[in-house]
Amino acid sequence: MKKTKLPSLPPLKPRLRGLEARYASIQEEIGEHILSVHTYSDKAKKRIITRVKTLLDEHKLKDLAFCEENVKKAYDEASTRAEERLKQIGATLDYTYKEIEFQESIEKYTALLYGDFQRAKETIIGQVKLYFRLLKEATEKKRKASLQFLDKSEIIEEGVDRIVTEGAVVRERVTKAGHKYYAAKSRGEISKEIKLLFEKTFGKLDFIAIDCKDGIRRHYQASSWFKMQARTRMRECQTHAVRDRCKQWQNDLVRVSSHDNPCKRCADFEGEVFSLSGDHPKYPVLDNFPPHPNCEHHIDPTSEVAIQVEEEYRSLAA
Ligand SMILES: [Zn+2]
Repeated sequence: MKKTKLPSLPPLKPRLRGLEARYASIQEEIGEHILSVHTYSDKAKKRIITRVKTLLDEHKLKDLAFCEENVKKAYDEASTRAEERLKQIGATLDYTYKEIEFQESIEKYTALLYGDFQRAKETIIGQVKLYFRLLKEATEKKRKASLQFLDKSEIIEEGVDRIVTEGAVVRERVTKAGHKYYAAKSRGEISKEIKLLFEKTFGKLDFIAIDCKDGIRRHYQASSWFKMQARTRMRECQTHAVRDRCKQWQNDLVRVSSHDNPCKRCADFEGEVFSLSGDHPKYPVLDNFPPHPNCEHHIDPTSEVAIQVEEEYRSLAA
């Protein structure tokens, strides 16, 4: 077997920096918008939601350009690498295979990633609306009745609850002039405390609310979520590129890459051989791969002969 080195898959991280920075600044701007509102009013709510929507819409073209450029690039790199490897292991090219399928895969993953982005933006708007709902509840002191229906993380619910409950307790207080009196906190004081709580929680802007596969809703900062999602989809599309090439070259077996520090969820995949069709008597079907977001693992085509050669080589070296 020819021993030429495969073109390596370039790391995806550096390509995601621009996206990450863009969403970090979007996040900051949204934070400034919502925190500029001190007391609830329908007018303020409308104004801010419109601003946030406009801001997010303004980035649609950049998002689309990002998805188009990066999905294609990631796909092509994995595809080229797989083709080299398939030639190395002596796979047989199916001349009837239609290369238009490559383009279809690229389009599919571009649309998937762009769709992910759009849905995430909807959750941002949802969170902004939630902010105003909470602010309204707090302003009207009606929170007990309806907070239980809110889906915001418990930090906010409990925090608002605590502030309002404690604020309602009549305590000894002292005026600036030094006169003692007994009173509960005013609405203004309570609103101010709630605003501080929001600033602390939303200041970090875990604005994206995603229902994960395990059924748990998680909140993410916009910048880190967009980066993670792009990276995950790009890896998925690279896996798909290898599948497409293997189909073209009538090859069924693939090996998962080996890393120095595989995570727990990848332990079952690390360095193992899988069958793409699931029809192989010895090797299991490759399913649910990459197994988790941000996964660094990828697959390379292999074959029974290649595996045998590698084993012999290893036993000689031992
Ligand atoms: Zn992994």
